Amino acid sequence: MKHEEHEFGQSLPSPACGRGWLDEVEPGEGPHPTLADARATFSLKREKDSRPAALRRGLVCATQYARRAGSLALDLVFPPACLLCRRAVAGHGALCAACWGDIAFIERPFCERLGTPFDRDLGGAGLISLEASADPPVFGRARAVARYDGDKARGLARRLKYYDRLELAEPLGRWMARAGADLLSSADVLVPVPLHRLRLFARRFNQSAALARVVARESAVPVEALALERVKPTPPQVGLTRAQRAANMQGAFRVREDMAITIAGKNIVLVDDVLTSGATVNAAARTLLRAGAARVDVLVFARVVTGA
Ligand SMILES: [Zn+2]
Repeated sequence: MKHEEHEFGQSLPSPACGRGWLDEVEPGEGPHPTLADARATFSLKREKDSRPAALRRGLVCATQYARRAGSLALDLVFPPACLLCRRAVAGHGALCAACWGDIAFIERPFCERLGTPFDRDLGGAGLISLEASADPPVFGRARAVARYDGDKARGLARRLKYYDRLELAEPLGRWMARAGADLLSSADVLVPVPLHRLRLFARRFNQSAALARVVARESAVPVEALALERVKPTPPQVGLTRAQRAANMQGAFRVREDMAITIAGKNIVLVDDVLTSGATVNAAARTLLRAGAARVDVLVFARVVTGA
């Protein structure tokens, strides 16, 4: 995650201090303006500012010292802590080595359709698992960062979803952009799996939309958060069989009429936090395909692996 420490502020102006203080802005301090915003703000100030150059440089320098001091103060008040266990770490928005080591990241070889890892390398690219050929999903391909059956991955997903830890969307979304690179390279639009409005009201934010926004920023694939609507309030799926889950999700989604043109003919990546039986993303994919989508792939943070 080293590159994340250089994510912000690389091109921000630091003309007078001789040291790139803003280069050292820590991630995780809260919402940052984009580089474009920062550049626009700076050039705006420069155009309008008629004060002598030396004074301007001094002000910029003072501002940078203040920001640096603010950053250090923030680290003193809120020292960087592991996202899961709160143990001290080097930078904000990171996991400690122990938690990182406990996440079951999914890596190749895996099933090209379901993205589920194979126990051993069968020596061929593009292999499909028995599960995928016996019961092909509605979506094209799925990719996940980690297995949901590990405590740590489940802990991250649950903290984001149920404990208002919205800041987790940032690292999780970045990992998803990497895990889904092969899907994203040919994607036209990202569509987060929506919540029904009653559940959105109760939970206050849609974790899938939060993840999709980060993936969109990382991959430069636009996100259409309102393309899909959840029109049926579905009860929690826990304890239901696979068939019951699928039946439960029938008619749950609809493409908004004014979004039909955004969907038709497009390669879509559905974004969700967790994939369990696949009933939700299959229902959402079916709705998008019926609306004319060319292809629907799925990108999640964690997925249940039942055997591949
Ligand atoms: Zn930890």
